[in-house]
Amino acid sequence: MSLGQLREAAAGLGLPRYAAGQMASWLYRRGCTDITAMTDLSKAAREALASSYRLGLEAPRSVAVSRDGTKKYLYRTADGHYVESAYIPDGDRATLCVSSQAGCRMGCRFCMTGRQGLRGQLTSGDILNQMASLPERGRLTNMVYMGMGEPLDNPDQVLRSLEILTAEWGYGWSPTRITVSTAGVVPGLRRLLDESRVHVAVSLHNPFPEQRAEIMPVERAFSVRDVVSLLRRYDFGGQRRVSFEYIVLAGMNDSPAHVKELARLLDGLKCRINLIRFHKIPGSPYFSPDDRRMEAFRNALSRKGIVTTVRASRGEDIQAACGLLSTKQMEEAGD
Ligand code: SF4
Repeated sequence: MSLGQLREAAAGLGLPRYAAGQMASWLYRRGCTDITAMTDLSKAAREALASSYRLGLEAPRSVAVSRDGTKKYLYRTADGHYVESAYIPDGDRATLCVSSQAGCRMGCRFCMTGRQGLRGQLTSGDILNQMASLPERGRLTNMVYMGMGEPLDNPDQVLRSLEILTAEWGYGWSPTRITVSTAGVVPGLRRLLDESRVHVAVSLHNPFPEQRAEIMPVERAFSVRDVVSLLRRYDFGGQRRVSFEYIVLAGMNDSPAHVKELARLLDGLKCRINLIRFHKIPGSPYFSPDDRRMEAFRNALSRKGIVTTVRASRGEDIQAACGLLSTKQMEEAGD
């Protein structure tokens, strides 16, 4: 709950307004999971709260550990859906990749979660639980909304989770440690840009609209050209960053024509491109290029003046591509 919601809850139970601040402090600063332990609230207030609200964390149901240290956790949401989070340690950094929806309705062809369709929206509580109940929580330095689902297809809950995560009365994270990824849902993106200060990552994957639409049906509703036009209205010269995610599919989006069009599309926008190796999913016709070809593509983009990196592949041995674990869980449950 945000501070505004806690105030409403306090008012609804006839508690003083300042009780909301006390509750926020117990919940987010002290990590309290038991209403009776909130000792600066009166006994009557605690009893009233306990009769109306549920408090606590939902522990992960299972974990898969990769040889490279990446861990994939499976959580059950309040609605009974299964979602995944990936914990990715990397030297001094440790990033948690969280889910924002159970399944996804964007239908990207290279994605296992997309095949599930949308099964349910996560609440801000479901989203934050992935961080708050993580066994390695104390080591986290960064959080990315890049797990299952399209975050900006669930904007109210995602924005609320960001508010709680970054507010002083909340977990107090710097927004510069958080990145929200989107396939390019323009109305939600506008809200994210206006209502938060977190970094933005746009799944690009092809600069040509017709070709992009073949692998990302969202292109037909919100063209990547409109996404880039919107981004141009915001300032990425300071602390806030925008990056473009680009899964390189051999022979499909890695030609010189793609390099040229990417340079044209992103001309003058302060950004970077992260090239990603394709994690093979069952029955897909796509392949990742070999290292030499990947490097040549990166160098060609760099020569055009675009800061381009190749993201290291993590957790391949534990099926780290999002959606694989929860799909397996659904199949086992006959769901
Ligand atoms: Fe949804 Fe992201 Fe998968 Fe596309 S890649 S279907 S937006 S989860």
